[in-house]
Amino acid sequence: MKKYQELAAKQTAFFHTGKTKDLSFRLEALQKLRMSIKKNEKQLMEALRADLNKSEFDAYSAEIGFVLEELRFAIKNLNSWVKPQRVKTPITHIGSQSYIYSEPFGVALIIAPWNYPFQLAVAPLIGAIAAGNCAVIKPSELTPVTSKALGELISKQFPDEFIAVVEGGVETSQALLNEKFDYIFFTGSVTVGKIIMEAAAKNLTPVTLELGGKSPCIVHEDANIKLAAKRIAWGKFTNAGQTCIAPDYLYLHQSIKDEFLQQFEETIQELYGAVPLSNPDFTHIVSERHFNRLASFLDNGQIAIGGRTKPESFMIEPTVLTDITWDTPVMQDEIFGPILPVLEYENLLEVIQGIHQHPKPLALYIFTENSGVHQQVLNSVSFGGGCINDTVYHFVSPYLPFGGVGNSGVGSYHGKGSFDTFSHKKSVLKQTTRFDIPFRYPNVKNGLKKIKMFMK
Ligand code: NAD
Repeated sequence: MKKYQELAAKQTAFFHTGKTKDLSFRLEALQKLRMSIKKNEKQLMEALRADLNKSEFDAYSAEIGFVLEELRFAIKNLNSWVKPQRVKTPITHIGSQSYIYSEPFGVALIIAPWNYPFQLAVAPLIGAIAAGNCAVIKPSELTPVTSKALGELISKQFPDEFIAVVEGGVETSQALLNEKFDYIFFTGSVTVGKIIMEAAAKNLTPVTLELGGKSPCIVHEDANIKLAAKRIAWGKFTNAGQTCIAPDYLYLHQSIKDEFLQQFEETIQELYGAVPLSNPDFTHIVSERHFNRLASFLDNGQIAIGGRTKPESFMIEPTVLTDITWDTPVMQDEIFGPILPVLEYENLLEVIQGIHQHPKPLALYIFTENSGVHQQVLNSVSFGGGCINDTVYHFVSPYLPFGGVGNSGVGSYHGKGSFDTFSHKKSVLKQTTRFDIPFRYPNVKNGLKKIKMFMK
């Protein structure tokens, strides 16, 4: 569409003025973003309540507060991140110096999903700005109030030749993908991730794909059951399970299964009340389609905990299903809701083999007091990232780059990882002109012999 072509051209022209590369320009933009988020905190909270019934606590801790922390971290460290990094020079290059420059790609397209509609649009933007890029953001159409609030916040602070929010659905996303961008950062489903990569391939545009999948959560026989139950319930039922790194299913050791489930039920009541469907702060399912998709799993296996729904407000209470196998429908795809199926195991090898037969997960969690056990899992299973004796918490550390592997994604971000993701690493050799080592030239006497002394 012509207007997106114009937008991309406008941003490219602005990028070529060189303004966005200036360190003070980047810092000022990050500060402005931070201040306007703080100023609009109430409006953002209301938007998240309207779209997903997110409580103020969830809206702040998982979206607004998280983004403010990422901003603070970037503002504090950007001065050192932007410096060219001096690296070693081999003896064959004597006389020269070697540097790695971080340069912005240019114009970045950021496509975001609906589950953390503010955070997942703004966290990549922080990396794009910090690295000196311009950016077009396409937020999700399923959370229109938040997408609109984001659009207003950005357009008040920044000219659209620098940062623009384009609201719209699949067609908008596809129309944007028809334009040439210098970087595409996509967060969403595996299916759409493949479409994005295909579109990017046409222009050889580099991509980050933050996707999803089925993330296992293993509770071993020696785990601290009470703490495991609490940390798993929190990670799973926050945002009603609509979290890309929520535990998708449990692998429970047979010997602790009953004790764990009893503890889990008590924990759910502690965290969400005796009747979670009446809890005014329990997040709703985003749409009728997703509600119906999730409700269809409620007859899988046996309901061990929960199982009730409130269709008029798209609510499903925290639910645990037992008598589940890998062939049960609920195990065929990422669940993305407050339903937790349980697989049982006797031997850790069954767990490892079970996970190996499926795509590499975005996250993995293992609860055990035995370092040999967690080491065995870390050594044998590939996954994006995860926790030992916790769930989800790795996501919020700026020191741990976050991303998937294989089907769960390509690339990573957060903290300096976001700056690096949006920067091309340009390697430069600064050669001396004071002398010229002759070995590389073909006319040197005994050249081959000499070169073999250095290259062996
Ligand atoms: P989605 O893939 O349906 O949509 C994501 C974005 O892509 C939206 O902005 C949408 O408008 C756009 N889009 C949808 N279909 C498209 C198409 N055919 N062509 C071009 N663009 C298209 O994902 P969703 O339902 O919004 O989000 C849920 C998924 O996102 C889950 O799979 C979840 O695991 C994943 N996710 C991953 C992360 C992560 O950080 N790895 C975070 C949150 C969500």
